[in-house]
Amino acid sequence: MTHDRDAARPLELSAEEVRALVKAATEHLIALSAKLDRRELPASYVFDSLNVNRYDEGRNVSYSLREDELPHAGTDFHVLLQQVFDEAMSNGTLHPHPGFMAHIPSGGLIQGAVGDFIARAVNRFAGVWIAAPGFQRIESNVIRWFCTMLGYGANSFGYLTTGGSLANFMAVRCALTAHEDDDRGRAVVYVSSEAHFSMIKASTMSGLRAAQVHVIGVDENYGMDLTELRSRIAADRAAGLYPVCLTGTAGTTNTGAVDDLATLARIARDEGMWFHADACFGGFFRLTERGKATLRGIEEADSISVDAHKSLFLPHGISALLVKERSRLGEAFQIPGAAYLPGFADEPELADFASYGPELSREIRGLTAWLPLKMHGVPAFAAALDEKLDLAQYLANRLSEVDGLELVRPHALQLPVVIFKLGGDQGSARNAELCELICSRGNVYLTTTELPEHGLVLRVCILHHKTDRAVVDQLIDDIACSVRTLNGGEI
Ligand SMILES: *Cc1c(COP(=O)(O)O)cnc(C)c1O
Repeated sequence: MTHDRDAARPLELSAEEVRALVKAATEHLIALSAKLDRRELPASYVFDSLNVNRYDEGRNVSYSLREDELPHAGTDFHVLLQQVFDEAMSNGTLHPHPGFMAHIPSGGLIQGAVGDFIARAVNRFAGVWIAAPGFQRIESNVIRWFCTMLGYGANSFGYLTTGGSLANFMAVRCALTAHEDDDRGRAVVYVSSEAHFSMIKASTMSGLRAAQVHVIGVDENYGMDLTELRSRIAADRAAGLYPVCLTGTAGTTNTGAVDDLATLARIARDEGMWFHADACFGGFFRLTERGKATLRGIEEADSISVDAHKSLFLPHGISALLVKERSRLGEAFQIPGAAYLPGFADEPELADFASYGPELSREIRGLTAWLPLKMHGVPAFAAALDEKLDLAQYLANRLSEVDGLELVRPHALQLPVVIFKLGGDQGSARNAELCELICSRGNVYLTTTELPEHGLVLRVCILHHKTDRAVVDQLIDDIACSVRTLNGGEI
């Protein structure tokens, strides 16, 4: 038997062809990274704008890449890679750019992508431990480390998902399973008005009506209003409803506010509710001293969702739902068994992931986090998170000195989000214009958001591993110049 490509197996590449393909892809990635470092690409080709004409360039690219015909003839992979890196790359918003400060940045450490690549290339089956005990262990180690990072003890466990939205979905399933005896039609889930929309999707995907999600207002710090929460729960009980799930947000996407998790945990316990902490944004900041203080009480949550593709700088597709008690996850996702699978022999040491989450066949996810965490050690990640907090504080201090600008401090800096607007009451349109002016310089990409009492404001989130002091100084220059341009234009 030969390892060379043979006519009977036209889909199989020879070792040389594999090497050439991987090498060519790697060279493209290295060239892209160098281009980004030399700032040859803008942080975004589009700006936050209500004017949809601004999105034409991206729309045109999308149209030009449309292929209705099935590819019948094969194409040389060099041509295909060129198409990916030239045509598909230069448009839209560039998450890999060091100046990406919009939404919640996702740095995408290449080490993580290599872990992912290996996992897919070896293509082992991760559904039951017996199929890949070694890889199951690697993924379980990552889950254990995530639990430890969030302050959970020995009984905790979790499940790696492709995103935080799915982790939130699994959390609501756990909450409903824990309240199986209650009338599902009268179950209530509580979130704050600053909670992520995925909590409402999670609830409706779990079979609840959107109206069963009760939205509680926020206090002056944009954290859940505890007084309103208590009276709402009492009123709901009086009306014959069943409070089943309370969600605290550990880092709202909008302002980085962290709910009073310790008090929410107590309320949930007193009321017999499942307490879920949505820590998709802020969770891993618990690795820092400041973050640990900010997230106080999170370890009391029944479940926690975290996005390693946010606060661990990894590529998109690595998140987790963590649970304080492993059995609760098992109860929600246990499969009844299938004759064609080897006997389920789940034991504390050896978990069948298929019994702890919604999926069966899937890629091994653990390597995406395992490789970078083992290569660098956790302190390197903690230091990077500390640096982001320092940079956000530095930015806030410097912006408060920029003429014509007003720093909006909805709360003390908890997570690296900085919010500002033009001084005086200049209105939404002018602030939107400021955001566009800043972004159009190409160095950074930020967006606006709406805050009650402040209207439209500009928002910066510093969470890219490549965002350093030089990038922030550039941002400050770009902001100051843009404010001058705007105000100059007015005279
Ligand atoms: C990003 C985010 C989510 C959703 O996570 P995805 O990984 O994008 O699905 C949920 N909650 C919060 C607070 C987030 O910041």
